[in-house]
Amino acid sequence: MQNPTDPLAHCRDMFHIPEGVIYLDGNSLGAMVKTAPARLEKALKQEWASDLITSWNKNGWWQLPLTLGAKIAPLVGAAPDNVVVTDSTSINIYKALHAALALRPDRSVIVAERNSFPTDLYMSEGVISTRPDMQLRTIAEMELAGGALDEVLDENVAVVLLNHVDYRSGSLLDMAAITKKIQAAGAMAIWDLCHSAGVMPVELDAANVDFAIGCSYKYLNGGPGAPAFIYANKRHHDSIRQPLSGWWGHAEPFAFKQDFEPQTGIRAFLCGTQPILSMLALEAGLSAFDGVDMTLVREKSKALTSLFADLVLDKAGQSGLALFSPRDAEQRGSQVSFSHPNGYAVMQALIDRGVIGDFRQPDIIRFGFSPLYISFDDVRNAAQILLDTVSSGEWRRYVDKEDGSVT
Ligand SMILES: *Cc1c(COP(=O)(O)O)cnc(C)c1O
Repeated sequence: MQNPTDPLAHCRDMFHIPEGVIYLDGNSLGAMVKTAPARLEKALKQEWASDLITSWNKNGWWQLPLTLGAKIAPLVGAAPDNVVVTDSTSINIYKALHAALALRPDRSVIVAERNSFPTDLYMSEGVISTRPDMQLRTIAEMELAGGALDEVLDENVAVVLLNHVDYRSGSLLDMAAITKKIQAAGAMAIWDLCHSAGVMPVELDAANVDFAIGCSYKYLNGGPGAPAFIYANKRHHDSIRQPLSGWWGHAEPFAFKQDFEPQTGIRAFLCGTQPILSMLALEAGLSAFDGVDMTLVREKSKALTSLFADLVLDKAGQSGLALFSPRDAEQRGSQVSFSHPNGYAVMQALIDRGVIGDFRQPDIIRFGFSPLYISFDDVRNAAQILLDTVSSGEWRRYVDKEDGSVT
């Protein structure tokens, strides 16, 4: 197998990739762009130390949620003023669910995926705990294609919250078709883009999605804890209502009025003062996407994941490795997951050999391929090291070493 040509090979040089490491965890924490330290140093030494509070205007701090939202917008197929960067994904799920429910006051059901990243379910439960009239219905992710959605969509469903790419299997849903189906049933569609933003073209406006949320510290390389983004379709901009009615979402924040009066437009999703240093690291991270064609990113992503799956499956034999991701690249995000009965130990052994992926319960090892900085040689080397690790039984040395709280 020859390496495919790589029109994005030059992008790797924008990132700091430690020597001897093959970093296949950009789906959990993206690598650092080389410009991030200088951007933060300027933020500290000039903007904070010297310019002090004048930075809110002078250095654009106040507008950062919008300016960063406008930078993410083209990556997710949105008009620039349909996206704002603020708070965490979990908090934005809470706001988006409430906003959707407020637009369907005569309906009482939230639908979400049973195998969803848990915070999506936990936040749904949190919404319901404040709304005793509501209930949560869950569907198995795998059943979606098989019509489970048709079975649960009835006149009581207010909103459906779905993951564009599943965090464990990496399976990718057809956003446009499913959104259409949800809306034809009179419900609102919220998409979680944590595992698709930054690795494929996403078409929120074209798919007529109602609301969407996503992380910026995964494939968008914003840095640990970088704030998330939230999208609202333009047709909802005059009617966004969410319960975290802080002063940043007030129509006139500096009028300091007694009563809350929401902003119109995407700013209605703001709550309070934002982590400016984190936002400036995200600004640096997003610059890696300047001038990058997302269709090329998707092409490379499919080629990377296919090569990895092919190389491993070709020699997996009786190693205990089984593919947990869709075999067809069209139905996959930018990750490949395998199950292995000793998945945790296998991953620890890999990390010791410089191949960094991660482990998800109960027995899943995940490898994320960030097309801007992963090369086809990385894929070959990682596949070989994985095969060596499982066939040599090297992982056995790690079986009783389950200590880390972060997996
Ligand atoms: C990573 C991830 C989150 C993380 O939420 P935080 O509030 O940033 O901790 C939420 N949902 C999904 C699907 C994720 O993959």
